[in-house]
Amino acid sequence: MIKPVALLIDDDAEIRGILKAIIVPLNFNAEELPGFENLRDRGPLSDVDVIFLDLSLDDGDGVEVLRWLAEQGCTAGVALVSSFDERLLGTALKVGESYGLTMLGGLRKPVKPKDVRNLITNRPVPDRGVDADELAQGIEDRELVFYYQPKVEIASGRVTSAEALVRWNSTRRGLVFPDNFIGLAESSGLMPSMTDLLLDQALADRLIWGKDGFTTAVAVNLSASALVDLDLPNRIGEKLRKCGTPADAVILEVTEATAMRDTRASMDVLTRLRIKGCGVSIDDFGTGYSSLAELHRLPFSELKIDRSFVMEIHRDRDSRVIVDAIIKMAHALDLKVVAEGVETAEHLRILGELGCDIAQGYFFSRPVPLDKFVAFMKDHDVNQARSVS
Ligand code: C2E
Ligand code: CA
Ligand code: CA
Repeated sequence: MIKPVALLIDDDAEIRGILKAIIVPLNFNAEELPGFENLRDRGPLSDVDVIFLDLSLDDGDGVEVLRWLAEQGCTAGVALVSSFDERLLGTALKVGESYGLTMLGGLRKPVKPKDVRNLITNRPVPDRGVDADELAQGIEDRELVFYYQPKVEIASGRVTSAEALVRWNSTRRGLVFPDNFIGLAESSGLMPSMTDLLLDQALADRLIWGKDGFTTAVAVNLSASALVDLDLPNRIGEKLRKCGTPADAVILEVTEATAMRDTRASMDVLTRLRIKGCGVSIDDFGTGYSSLAELHRLPFSELKIDRSFVMEIHRDRDSRVIVDAIIKMAHALDLKVVAEGVETAEHLRILGELGCDIAQGYFFSRPVPLDKFVAFMKDHDVNQARSVS
């Protein structure tokens, strides 16, 4: 069997030696490269699986190298190694991500063998297998299903809505997560038909929990192609009418980055959805680069703080400051604030103190299939009634 290839890019021979001693026993072929120049001279990178990159090289800085790797179409997982503080390391990782690289994480010097092993063994293995034909077949065979995750009002404990998160229940591959096929659906032109199918699915699922008396709204994620589809608001209106669902029982979630791509079309589509009475939510807030002025022009009713900030509020001062500021700003603009990635009681407590309205995350429930979601709602209802009486 061919061994996976790891590049160790560091001007310090000792660090290269340490990394090599850790990863060779993990069955890697390790190649040592002292600088940027050596990397450029190495030739194509298609055989490389993992890259360990020092942030400050003698002949260039790590960010320049990241940019160059992205230009080469590098698909390897990249781990950053540095003696700088966590914050700078964190920023450099974000830069890598923004270039579309697969960033595995950061390692502070002195490098610990355990951390290196964790990065390597937990790295996502790129799924080279899925292609558009297989996905199209999956869609036709009705293999796309929604899992639901509750969004819970912090003050009352009431479930105000449920986010629909798509899964591909593939006969060949098992359960495939959206990050592995949403991009493909978008680039291969399958997304528009998928969007309509999923909206129908979400509305049908909501009728099912409606039968048990739950009026909980359903939140559906919209992709970039949906936001430039000027006919979408009309089709959604028609779908609502057909199944007798009030418009305010549907929330459309769009990410900050998606909404900003073509602001004129987004503004058109989102405004008309709001006029119809649907909720419109700005997702992953804090990860994009939109200005407040631009945001204010878009007619959002809800703002979701990205989980990368929420998950750190109990231990990272910067994250807490950011979450606090986002909540204040959102409230001043009359937006409801949702925190996603709420995993612990402590996260929830801090968010409550900061005045956040709604929480979503593993602390309440992971995304679960429809029947399990209905069971969750019944259970939650009983507990709620008990805590009130
Ligand atoms: P998103 O809209 O930000 O969805 C939240 C993601 O966070 C979900 O991942 C969910 O499983 C995960 N999550 C929820 N609570 C927690 C928590 O407490 N801790 C952690 N670590 N993670 C949590 P998922 O389901 O893999 O979805 C990934 C992304 O795929 C979504 O991000 C959304 O952008 C996209 N997506 C999902 N379903 C659809 C869809 O139907 N249509 C479109 N266009 N995009 C979708
Ligand atoms: Ca979402
Ligand atoms: Ca999100």
